[in-house]
Amino acid sequence: MQVIKTLEDLKHVTHAYDDFETIEGSSIPQYYKDIFPKTCTCGAEMILTEPKHTQLQCCNPACWVKMAHRLNYFISYHGFKGFGEQACYSIFVNCHNELQYASFLGAFLLSRDALNRALTPYQLELFLEIKETLSTHTYHFCDAIASLGIPNIGSRSVLFDYVKGPSVLMNYVLDNKTEELCDMIGINAVSTRYYLKAAAADIVLLMSDVMPGITATPKGEIFVAITGKVSVGGVAYTRAEFIALCESFRDAEGTQLYKLIETKAQDKLQYVIADAPSDSDKYRIGLRLNKLITAEEFYKMLKDGANPPDDNNPPPPPPPGCQPGESLISIQRREAEAQKAYDVQRRRQIEEYERRRQEEEKKKRRQNGNSVAEFSDDDYNAGCVKGRGKPHFVPM
Ligand SMILES: [Zn+2]
Repeated sequence: MQVIKTLEDLKHVTHAYDDFETIEGSSIPQYYKDIFPKTCTCGAEMILTEPKHTQLQCCNPACWVKMAHRLNYFISYHGFKGFGEQACYSIFVNCHNELQYASFLGAFLLSRDALNRALTPYQLELFLEIKETLSTHTYHFCDAIASLGIPNIGSRSVLFDYVKGPSVLMNYVLDNKTEELCDMIGINAVSTRYYLKAAAADIVLLMSDVMPGITATPKGEIFVAITGKVSVGGVAYTRAEFIALCESFRDAEGTQLYKLIETKAQDKLQYVIADAPSDSDKYRIGLRLNKLITAEEFYKMLKDGANPPDDNNPPPPPPPGCQPGESLISIQRREAEAQKAYDVQRRRQIEEYERRRQEEEKKKRRQNGNSVAEFSDDDYNAGCVKGRGKPHFVPM
């Protein structure tokens, strides 16, 4: 994120502000031009859209006043109380020259001395507690990115339909390939593409320093209610422990497979986990909706889902070796293509098998009249036809 002081310079960097004007250059009445500040506190020009006169803002993407607002948004997004806008503003008023990186998250890298000058002792302790919590807790990927307050990248952004984990996004950012990423996932708005690119320092600092415990988006959310004491394999678990156990399944890439969401909402509820009958509301709802399951059964279901039992089908061919520097997205796409090719090949094999089988039957009928075939379906399914002469294998 570079420091930009004029709209002209900003327009050299991106087309996202093509329909913006400076206060002086805009068509607002002179009366308002005299009232509106021409420059931001950071020293850069104030701009607004022309001719609609909306989105009044500072033209500097690295404006420290904006950073203060974003820090406030970030802190409140994660539910911290008591550290408000005034405290955030105070950090940047006093310390904006000491930021190591042009990111609002640089506030978390400031020295205790610097923060001490900006904050009251109470605010300082609170801020350090927030910093400690952020660095030691686990956060889900899309929540973490949405909390950066990048315009148009909320938790429901199309970005998260394609990018499921921190390492993938990090690769695109570090390789300066967010434009390619946007092309791939269909983010076409020039402004959104620019905001994502401009947030590179935020994304890197978030993942590397402020919030190192970001986990990939779980593949499956399961709405459950848990009632009474539960145990798996003879070991008793508290509700929180049981949820942690169920959420511990990972796929080969380390992506969390399940996220358990506790709910009593009957339209969402998928399972009521109960090891024994009880008088609880949850148990009664589970009984009425026929959604009761024991913790042991539920755990086994997740385990089977995580490691599907071998169903005698040969596994799809492994994807060709990964190219150095290849992104996870393209690996996933290539794997999907390999799977598709495999499905086509398998369908052809099945068709070929059917054709041969019908031919064999016709041949038999010709030789034996209409007598019953000598070999059974099982023989075919086993891949081996015990016809006359040597056995031969039917490709499967
Ligand atoms: Zn500014």
